[in-house]
Amino acid sequence: MAIVREKGAMRQWSRSQRQCGQRIALVPTMGFLHQGHLSLVAEARLRADKVVVSIYVNPGQFAPGEDLDVYPRDFDSDVEKLKPLGVDIIFNPHDLYVRESPEKNRESGHETWIRVENLERPLCGGSRPLFFRGVATVVSKLLNIVEPDVVVFGKKDYQQWRVLARMVRDLDFGVEVIGCPLVREADGLAMSSRNVRLTATERKNALAIFHSLKRAEELVRSGETDSSVLIEQAVTAISNAGGKVDYASIVDQETLKSVDKITKPSVFAITAWFGSVRLLDNVELSNN
Ligand code: AMP
Repeated sequence: MAIVREKGAMRQWSRSQRQCGQRIALVPTMGFLHQGHLSLVAEARLRADKVVVSIYVNPGQFAPGEDLDVYPRDFDSDVEKLKPLGVDIIFNPHDLYVRESPEKNRESGHETWIRVENLERPLCGGSRPLFFRGVATVVSKLLNIVEPDVVVFGKKDYQQWRVLARMVRDLDFGVEVIGCPLVREADGLAMSSRNVRLTATERKNALAIFHSLKRAEELVRSGETDSSVLIEQAVTAISNAGGKVDYASIVDQETLKSVDKITKPSVFAITAWFGSVRLLDNVELSNN
């Protein structure tokens, strides 16, 4: 397993592999890896001859005042976790944005951004209006640098997966997009690099998100189709546990538009704050 930091070297490696007929998979991450990330690597391994994992905390997707500076990082431990998994390259660039000079603001030297105009708007787009612009832009940079045949994302970040799949389709990137199932801790909490920033009490209380999604699944199984009933029980349960709900929405799986009744494949997506940590979770719902 090699660690590559320069984008020129990364592209050169990929091109030489492809010339030899090797199929390349890319798993983009921001590091501080957990089993959720590693499940994507396992899927990538099945779908390609060579696997590249990128580790890059993308400044372009954090607004001023968000948790860029305290985002958890542990590169050495990430390397150890990836070693047994048959990863060929860890792509860990220093900085993917051109900066004209350190004194200038962080966008100087870079002025091209990708917008996925409708899918970026609901859900996380409400409270983080520039988030998907940053994600779509950095992923398109990674696709241009690594030139993979397949790219693997997690459905933990459901909207992100849909936004990026649409970007790939609309802009004719020659890459297959895979969405992998959300991986949970043993007690049900959705795995996230940010979980480490929860206090023990917040960690316990945050389970209310998972429990309310499970309850919604049960209600749908027993015949409930009214989104507002499902949303209300979730918001109440999370608020009672001390969480601050950013959004709790039931949306169409493809368009991400709100649905009042669960009559087609939908996803119940919740984002809530516990302490200073913003947590995302979701379940796919279908009434058949
Ligand atoms: P991140 O490092 O948080 O940017 O995530 C990198 C990739 O891992 C994204 O495609 C995420 O959706 C995916 N991912 C993160 N957490 C999980 C999880 N618990 N289950 C499945 N995929 C995940």
